[in-house]
Amino acid sequence: MQGKLELMMGPMRSNKTAELLRRADMRRQYAKQFVLVLKPSDDTKGGPGVVESRNPNGGGKMSALEFNSTNPWEVLRLIRDKEQEIGKRVECLAIDEGQFVSDLFAFTRHLLDAGHDVLVAGLDLDFRAMPFGEMLNLTWLVNAYGGSITECMAYCNCGARALYSQRFIDGKPAPYDSPIKVPGDSYEPRCSDHFVLPGKPR
Ligand SMILES: [Zn+2]
Repeated sequence: MQGKLELMMGPMRSNKTAELLRRADMRRQYAKQFVLVLKPSDDTKGGPGVVESRNPNGGGKMSALEFNSTNPWEVLRLIRDKEQEIGKRVECLAIDEGQFVSDLFAFTRHLLDAGHDVLVAGLDLDFRAMPFGEMLNLTWLVNAYGGSITECMAYCNCGARALYSQRFIDGKPAPYDSPIKVPGDSYEPRCSDHFVLPGKPR
């Protein structure tokens, strides 16, 4: 039987990770499932081997299996090893920061075809307000395999719903052509009136 996909998307500070961990915990506690939490190597917000919500009041943290975000396929071996170790199936995989994972669409489809339920949390848009990685492609899989899409809500300082992740470098709005990785960058959720992107071509 195929698995189902639960997708949690939204901008920065929309409690995506807290929601992912809450669902993983529910499955463990009440459904007695084995849930393997996966953390791509580009996710730096928790310590090594830990998935952690940025919200100090939400969700806490959970130990996680780290994998190279450029090669999620290496996880298949780790799942087999884990299933041998625990003597039963890994019913559910929970992937945080899905936007960083290469081949996310094909990898998730493979897991669903192999009968695992999959939870994926991640950013829908990058700081340029463009689709981030393959997160938005996963909506097709929800349609085809069943499951749910949760738009995690974030709020701008003005109180309106924030759809965008405003990036700052040295306290200033990051220009459109700034590099993908900058040490010391930071983010705030912003509504369309307060989202600014200096140098945006159109
Ligand atoms: Zn605003």
